[in-house]
Amino acid sequence: MTGPRPLKALEVSHRAGVRVRSRRARPLASLAVWLAVAYGAVAQPSRPRLALQPFDGFDLELIPELVRTIEQLYAVQVEVLAPQDLPGTAYYPPRSRYRADRLLDGLAAECPERFAKIVGLSARDISTTKGRTQDWGIFGLADLGGRACVVSTWRLGRGKVEESRFLERLHKVVRHEVGHTLGLDHCVARHCLMQDAGGAIETVDRQRNDLCDSCRGALGALAQSASGGPDR
Ligand SMILES: [Zn+2]
Ligand SMILES: [Zn+2]
Repeated sequence: MTGPRPLKALEVSHRAGVRVRSRRARPLASLAVWLAVAYGAVAQPSRPRLALQPFDGFDLELIPELVRTIEQLYAVQVEVLAPQDLPGTAYYPPRSRYRADRLLDGLAAECPERFAKIVGLSARDISTTKGRTQDWGIFGLADLGGRACVVSTWRLGRGKVEESRFLERLHKVVRHEVGHTLGLDHCVARHCLMQDAGGAIETVDRQRNDLCDSCRGALGALAQSASGGPDR
């Protein structure tokens, strides 16, 4: 949870919303839609897909609740990929950590095309460069408006605090990093989930596990611009 990595060109995901149907829709397709309307069977527009990529060693029992907590806050459909080894190219021997930037690059490059976003989940320590600190251990890192983020449980105190506290921390950090990939930057609102924790677990503990009104508004605006304008 240091600053998200800015991308040169922001790309935001589509949020599930009512897409404007093309006026040139084929008659048969239109008929099918109207029949579906008549019978109350119109399916919700499909939500963009988000992949969870556990790295080897990540506790898979944590996954179902992570799926739930992400889908509860964001209009995405979460799927879970088979666990993978952490890439050796990201390993940083002097501190026995994995460089989060390299993990993001690998995740984004290898993410199957059907997914708009991908979340790497690591039990090993991850790090990035922060200011003059070449290798700074972090909770998570994301590409702002990009495709990938990564979260580590290493610094979340599992076994040192109550399990419920650990789980709350994990869910907050995952929601925070996913928020970055959806285009949300850091927020100064008190207790907002998108507050910059600056590496302090106390800040994570003080946050509400929710977005402030301003961030919710920003998320809606980002989704609308991604889907080509306001729904009509
Ligand atoms: Zn952040
Ligand atoms: Zn906020």
